[in-house]
Amino acid sequence: AVEVRDLCVRFGERLVLDRLGFRAAPGEFVAITGPSGAGKSTLIWVLAGALAPTSGSVTYGGAPIGDRATAARAGIALIAQGNALSTPLTALENVVVPQLAAGVAARDARSRADEALAAVGLASARTQLVEELSGGQQQRVAVARALAAQPRVLLADEPTSDLDAETREAITALLAAHARAGGAVIMATHDAWCAEQADRELHLDAGALTTIR
Ligand code: ATP
Ligand code: MG
Repeated sequence: AVEVRDLCVRFGERLVLDRLGFRAAPGEFVAITGPSGAGKSTLIWVLAGALAPTSGSVTYGGAPIGDRATAARAGIALIAQGNALSTPLTALENVVVPQLAAGVAARDARSRADEALAAVGLASARTQLVEELSGGQQQRVAVARALAAQPRVLLADEPTSDLDAETREAITALLAAHARAGGAVIMATHDAWCAEQADRELHLDAGALTTIR
């Protein structure tokens, strides 16, 4: 399980996360909602090992999270807000390369990538450079990259922003399916429909989480 205890993040004078705590079990799909600037992305960064908290702890199965690279090796994948793809590479390369870096054999990396790109509806665009893809297609490459890592914990920051309704529903269904297959999925979202698809909704405001359901 993912366990967050007494988590504080301060940026200068501003305490963005204030002794925040929660737990997400394997198989759970959790939505984090809240107004713009509430600290949703900040929380996702801390959970991903990309930002060290001011105080408090984040553990996965009892082990501390470490930095981003350690977290990635431990099976924690991140779909960042505004993707962060390597633009001189193709969609397929963007999905394959991080797997090779994580030690997955080339043949397996390729088949996982093909499967993940097909799942997000990009099978026919896989050899296109990502800089030549639309914003929504790039977003789907980012989702495919995270799914291909077969993560124990999938963190998604606004994964459905800038997508049409059909793609938004498909992406949300993939996240839900990942949870049903036993992964923990933690998603920050503005999108009320998307949040409703999760098993639980936690609302972040004034640095603290409130359980909506
Ligand atoms: P949105 O819904 O718009 O994505 P959010 O809930 O994800 O918002 P965050 O991006 O986590 O909000 O930002 C929370 C607060 O922390 C904001 O007030 C932001 O200005 C501030 N903040 C975020 N990163 C930094 C940073 N590196 N340095 C200083 N302040 C920061
Ligand atoms: Mg954000």
